Amino acid sequence: MSNTDILVIGAGAAGLMAARTLAKSGQKVTVLEARDRCGGRIHTLTHELFFKNAELGAEFVHGDLPVTLNLLNEAGIPYYPAGGEMWQYKNGGFVKEDELITGWDMLLEKLGKLKKDITIESFLQKEFSDDRYRQLKDSVRNFVSGYDTADPAKASTFALRKEWQSEDNNAQHRIKGGYGVMIKYLEEEIKNARGEIWLNCAVKEIHWQRGKVTALTEDGTAYDGSKILIALPLGVLQADKNEKGAISFIPAIHKQEKALQAMGFGAIIKILLEFDKSFWVDKPGKEPTGTSLKNMAFLFSEEEIPTWWTQEPQHSSVLTGWLGGMAAAAKTDITNEEILQQSLQSLSNIFKLDPDELKDKLVSYNIANWTNEPFTRGSYAYDTITAPALRKLLNKPVNKTLYFAGEYLYEGPAMGTVEAALTSGLDAAKRMPDG
Ligand SMILES: Cc1cc2nc3c(=O)[nH]c(=O)nc-3n(C[C@H](O)[C@H](O)[C@H](O)COP(=O)(O)OP(=O)(O)OC[C@H]3O[C@@H](n4cnc5c(N)ncnc54)[C@H](O)[C@@H]3O)c2cc1C
Repeated sequence: MSNTDILVIGAGAAGLMAARTLAKSGQKVTVLEARDRCGGRIHTLTHELFFKNAELGAEFVHGDLPVTLNLLNEAGIPYYPAGGEMWQYKNGGFVKEDELITGWDMLLEKLGKLKKDITIESFLQKEFSDDRYRQLKDSVRNFVSGYDTADPAKASTFALRKEWQSEDNNAQHRIKGGYGVMIKYLEEEIKNARGEIWLNCAVKEIHWQRGKVTALTEDGTAYDGSKILIALPLGVLQADKNEKGAISFIPAIHKQEKALQAMGFGAIIKILLEFDKSFWVDKPGKEPTGTSLKNMAFLFSEEEIPTWWTQEPQHSSVLTGWLGGMAAAAKTDITNEEILQQSLQSLSNIFKLDPDELKDKLVSYNIANWTNEPFTRGSYAYDTITAPALRKLLNKPVNKTLYFAGEYLYEGPAMGTVEAALTSGLDAAKRMPDG
C-alpha cells in the first residue's frame, strides 16, 4: 500500500501534463501507468536501425497550437515545418492538388450559415442533395472518416466547422526527435518535483468516498490518495468492465459513466514501411506535366489503405500508411500480416509495381492497430451533437475527489490532438485545489 495526495491514472500527454503541474505546485503526486512506457498514444520509435524517431502514434503539431509550442519552447525542443506537396492518385495518374476537396469554399460558406447543430451526414444530405454534388459529399465523408476518424452519421457539424475554420495547413510542424522527446521532458519534470511514476500498473478498480480514494491494480496492489485524476483514453472508459484495461468505479458514478458512453471515439491503423530506397521519387506526375513526386508529402487515393505520406521535407525511404474511421474499425481484429499485405497491394496498384517486387524492397515494417490495443481501444475523440454538454459534466469534479482529463475533454478547435490532451491536463490540474 502506497500513500499519496493525488493519484493520476494514465501517463499520456494529459496525465503527465497534469502531474507535472501538480507536482511543481508542491503536491505529492503518483502516476500509475498500465504500459511499460509513458506517452500512451505518443509512441516514438527509437530503434537504432529502422524507423529512427518514426511515430507510431501522434506525429504532427497541427498548427501554431499554444500549449504544445509553449511546452516545446520551454523545454528547448526544436520543431520544424512539415510542409510539402499534396498529390492524388486518380484515374490511373498522379495529380498535384492545392485543394483536396473541390468545392471546399462553397462548403465552408454553407457551414457558416448553419444555425442549429446536426450531424455532418444530415448537413450534406440537406445542403447538397443534388446528384451533381456526389463527389463533394463523398470527399467530405472520406475526410471526416479519414482525418477525424469519425462516423459522419454521428459527427457534429458545429465541431467540424470550428476545426476547419481554424485550420492552417501552412503551419504544420514535426518535432525534432519526435513527440517522445516531449514526453521524456515531462517525465523528468515530474521526477525532479518528487513525483512518482509507476509503470506496468493497470488500474482495475477505483474505490472512493469524499476525500479518499484507493486505486487497485490488476495484480492486487492498492494505492491510496485523497483525490484521483482519471487520464485514460475514452475507448478504455467505454470498454466493457470485464475487458482488459477497463475500470470499475466503486461506488458507481452513473451520470458520468453514461456521459462517457455517449461520446464519440474513432478507430485508426497506422502503418510504417521502410524501403531500401524512396522508389516513388522519380514517378512522373500527370498534372502539372513535367513534375515528379520528388517533393511529395501526402498521397491520397481510393485504395484499401488510401492515405500515404513521406517524411518530407526530410529525405527518407519510409512511407506511412493511414486508415481511419469505420474502415479501420472493421479491421480491428485482423492480423498485422494481413494489413501489411493490403498495404503492399494498395501501393502496388498505385505505383504499378508487382507486390512481390515491393516486398523485396521492404526492409522493415511496423503496424499499430490502435483499436486493438487494450490500453487505448481506438484513435481519438470526435464530437457528437451532445458532446459539449457531456464534456461540461465530465469536467466537473465528482465530490471534489474524482477528476477526469484527456484529449476528449478539450473545448478548443484542435480536437483529438496532443494539444487537446495537454490543455485538458493543465485545466484539470488547475481545478484540483491544494490540500
Ligand atoms: C495513430 C495516431 C496518430 C495521431 N496523430 C496525431 C498527430 O499527428 N497530431 C496530434 O496532435 N495528435 C495525434 N493523435 C492524437 C494524440 O495522440 C492523442 O490525442 C493524445 O496523445 C492523447 O493523450 P491522452 O493523454 O488523452 O491519452 P493517452 O495518450 O491514450 O494516455 C492514456 C494513458 O492511459 C494508460 N492506460 C490505459 N488504461 C489504463 C489502466 N487501466 N490503468 C492505468 N493506465 C492505463 C494508457 O496506457 C496511456 O498511457 C494521434 C493518435 C493516434 C492513435
